[in-house]
Amino acid sequence: MFYKRSSELFKQAQEVIPGGVNSPVRAFKSVGGTPIFASKAKGAYVIDEDGNRFIDYISSWGPMILGHAHPKVVEAISKVAKNGTSFGMPTLLETKLAKLALSMVPNMDKIRFVNSGTEACMSAIRLARGFTKRDKIIKFSGCYHGHSDSFLIEAGSGVVTFGTPNSPGVTEGTAKDTLIAPYNNISFVKTIFKENPGQIAAIIIEPIAGNMGCVVPNSGFLEGLRKLCDINDSLLIFDEVMTGFRLSKGGAQEVLGINADIVTYGKVIGGGLPVGAFASRNEIMNELSPNGSVYQAGTLSGNPLAMIAGYTTLNELNENNEVYKSLDDKSSYLGIEMNKILESEKIDFQINKFGSMISLHFCSEPVIDFESSMKGNNNKFKKYFHGMLSEGIYLPPSPFESYFLNDALSYNDIDFTLEALKKVSKSL
Ligand SMILES: *Cc1c(COP(=O)(O)O)cnc(C)c1O
Repeated sequence: MFYKRSSELFKQAQEVIPGGVNSPVRAFKSVGGTPIFASKAKGAYVIDEDGNRFIDYISSWGPMILGHAHPKVVEAISKVAKNGTSFGMPTLLETKLAKLALSMVPNMDKIRFVNSGTEACMSAIRLARGFTKRDKIIKFSGCYHGHSDSFLIEAGSGVVTFGTPNSPGVTEGTAKDTLIAPYNNISFVKTIFKENPGQIAAIIIEPIAGNMGCVVPNSGFLEGLRKLCDINDSLLIFDEVMTGFRLSKGGAQEVLGINADIVTYGKVIGGGLPVGAFASRNEIMNELSPNGSVYQAGTLSGNPLAMIAGYTTLNELNENNEVYKSLDDKSSYLGIEMNKILESEKIDFQINKFGSMISLHFCSEPVIDFESSMKGNNNKFKKYFHGMLSEGIYLPPSPFESYFLNDALSYNDIDFTLEALKKVSKSL
């Protein structure tokens, strides 16, 4: 593979865009090398600016669950675009997507659309704080809820203490209201509740974590959080920006059989256009302006192109009863076969998988939280990533991200990927 044009384009981009990218993970910093500039994509494949073709395992970090440039989605967007692309007035499309989304997920009465997962999570905690009239939230190390200040917090020193900012520009004042717990550690969360009586507005969590690789909750963990929230009159927020409409029609709430009080969405719900959303029951959503006093707004929220892309994608997922099973089957096949290949090379590795989310860490201990996810061998990961890339397989350029399979991927594509892994694993 040659990346001549990508290298040139990256240089040009760096002159006018910080680091040459508009979102850091795209810069390949954790794997080294030059990011590949995409020029087009169709189905399971992405073509870069040099004309190289890759089998795509990130699906734009999730949204392209049906595959790239799905004909129905493209046609629907083009049709709507001809009638104007933004009005700053309500449109029928917003109600259509709201009705469809609410009919697919359990336990939610109303939904508000925003433009990204970050906005959805930021608004969800404001709403939770407004509703409960409390300030503090509990977040888990290694879970990502977008880049708003309240979430860019890491655990402070000491056993149970306030969080501290993990980015310059986030104030101590903000950090003190975010309390950090390790994923899968219910007793730690209990202690936080005990030490902050009557002060916790909400727990926010990725019900299946996807931002430290894929990490699955231990049995009883989420049930335990649900119980703690009920006992303490706190709200449970599921961040389903990744899992919503990906694990099943009803997302993690449905698959795991646990109801959250507020759920955030993003990625798949926009079908490849910028959409986020948060949903809850009437009692809570009625606190939101213009009905209630918790403020939240957006000039481009509910944008018609974004709504039709989301609507067409969800409609396809809703009507095609095979799609989730087919995604699960393909992911299982990939996971099982990867396992066999890596085992035969006697490499230390962990494959975590839930539905169509998979991740691979090069370490010997199970990956169950952020601490264990950090133990992966990064040099091995770099070799693996670049090896697979040169075989034409585009994987997430960081061990802390999950693969997101899309339904355009064929068994031939997966077999091709496994052949590549056979070659690459010999050099690990
Ligand atoms: C991607 C992601 C976000 C942030 O969404 P953006 O659209 O990138 O702002 C929030 N939470 C989770 C779980 C995510 O995976």
